[in-house]
Amino acid sequence: MKTEDYLVVPGSAISLADFKTDDTAGHKKSEALARLEELRADLNTLQQLLYADGRYGLLVILQGMDTSGKDGVCRHVVNAFNPQGVQITSFKVPTSEELAHDFLWRIHKAIPRRGMVGIFNRSQYEDVLVVRVENLVPEKVWRKRYGLINDFEGCLCDNGITVVKFFLHISNDEQKTRLQDRLDDPTEYWKFNLADLKTRAKWDAYTAAYEDALNKCSTKRAPWYIIPADKKWFRDLLISQILKEKLTALNLEWPPLAEEAVGITIE
Ligand code: AMP
Ligand code: MG
Repeated sequence: MKTEDYLVVPGSAISLADFKTDDTAGHKKSEALARLEELRADLNTLQQLLYADGRYGLLVILQGMDTSGKDGVCRHVVNAFNPQGVQITSFKVPTSEELAHDFLWRIHKAIPRRGMVGIFNRSQYEDVLVVRVENLVPEKVWRKRYGLINDFEGCLCDNGITVVKFFLHISNDEQKTRLQDRLDDPTEYWKFNLADLKTRAKWDAYTAAYEDALNKCSTKRAPWYIIPADKKWFRDLLISQILKEKLTALNLEWPPLAEEAVGITIE
């Protein structure tokens, strides 16, 4: 599996219709689950190393239509890591205090410190997605935000935070099945939200807004990946593989023994 195949090449103009939602890169489920276990162990070691090394942080951004699996990925990624080194932030409709600040204020406060992994369940991108589709601010305000987001993410990279962004790509039919499950399965009733149907009715407008966000904000330093997400096991496999590559690329090192401890033997 080549993870570059899922990258939105910076400067390109992708159309989501050209990306399959049920791709499995030729993997079978049973073999993928076994591979996932190995990746989980690798990620666990890499995270410990990230923490010990302390020079870098990792920010994972999850976006996608309702039911695309953002919560599932949070669970999955956190399971691979030591919970002490991970912090998840879910961004909801902004509070009055958040709205009284610039749109990046609440985001910046949630950025992981070096050594930590931060997972964003929704993110600054809501401010060019729902905000754009629902006309929550004038166009001239949201149009400027693509550039502001790129500058902000560049600043994070300059300060040792690796940013990786996953768009969980599901089909309209898969969303229909998943929403229907929330009406049919008593253990899923609690997930049903009538507002999701209004959002579903605007599928095309959201798709267009996502395409702009992916095309304008996939940068070399903070790239977007389009993750085929109809099959949950493939979604988790691909994300785990990309995270392993990102952490490996940091060339993390176990810190040397403190100078004051050199030569000490415990009696
Ligand atoms: P959920 O992720 O299902 O808990 O839903 C969170 C809701 O908050 C979604 O409907 C998002 O679109 C909405 N939301 C998140 N960020 C913003 C934002 N900046 N402006 C407006 N709505 C937002
Ligand atoms: Mg929801």
